Amino acid sequence: MLEIKDLHASINGKEILKGINLTVNPGEIHALMGQNGAGKSTLSNVLVGNPAYEVTSGSVTFNGKDLLAMKPEERAHEGLFLSFQQPVEIPGVSMVNFMRAAINAKRKYHGMEPMSAGDFLKMMREKRKVVELDSKLANRSVNEGFSGGEKKRNEIFQMAMLEPKLSILDETDSGLDVDALRIVAEGFNKLRTPETSALVITHYQRLLDYLKPDVVHVLLGGRIVKSGGPELAVEIENKGFDWIKAETSAV
Ligand code: ADP
Ligand code: MG
Ligand code: MG
Repeated sequence: MLEIKDLHASINGKEILKGINLTVNPGEIHALMGQNGAGKSTLSNVLVGNPAYEVTSGSVTFNGKDLLAMKPEERAHEGLFLSFQQPVEIPGVSMVNFMRAAINAKRKYHGMEPMSAGDFLKMMREKRKVVELDSKLANRSVNEGFSGGEKKRNEIFQMAMLEPKLSILDETDSGLDVDALRIVAEGFNKLRTPETSALVITHYQRLLDYLKPDVVHVLLGGRIVKSGGPELAVEIENKGFDWIKAETSAV
């Protein structure tokens, strides 16, 4: 589904990603861990096509297509979804209208008619339940005045509505209390299908307890230096990253 080969990327002329190799197959959940500043958010930004980041070499294939050649909105229409570390607020645009525009843009890209108002509202109601999102949030401006937990829940709700093939969750668990974390994680699990995949960036084992990743990767200095099973996340929670750094510099 996603194949990243020797990806190098820079911001303001400074190289951050120094040769990322990563393959995510349909149905798989990959966790990406690493200290602050390792380049995790840079990788998510590059994948969604944030123009601030410059890809200097390497390739990314998504469902057999050249991801890096696509505009950001095309990447979304092809089924890529990013939940940001810091969700943006969009004053003056209600959640309902925002989601409707996003869904209809995707449908148009795939040569489909816009969704009827009735079908759209029905879908909103169904998906809202998955993340226990309050109905009154739907009529408010996107994320404006939402609490941290509401923003994150809202993001999973948006994910539910857009039905992406690959979701990137960039520290979606940061700032969530235990109950909100459970609701977000369980909501995410309910939305999973045998075809949908995720790249989950997190510092904490707790989210991974719910999401049960197939593979855990450690990003260090712009490269994936170690990959393993879920036990690697537990080991990092207990021992930190220094032992991985030591291993890496020894080779
Ligand atoms: P992580 O998400 O792993 O904490 P980031 O990808 O956010 O790391 O950052 C990686 C490195 O890139 C850091 O050294 C950070 O300071 C730098 N960086 C990220 N975004 C910018 C930016 N917009 N301008 C300058 N430097 C940046
Ligand atoms: Mg960070
Ligand atoms: Mg980050």
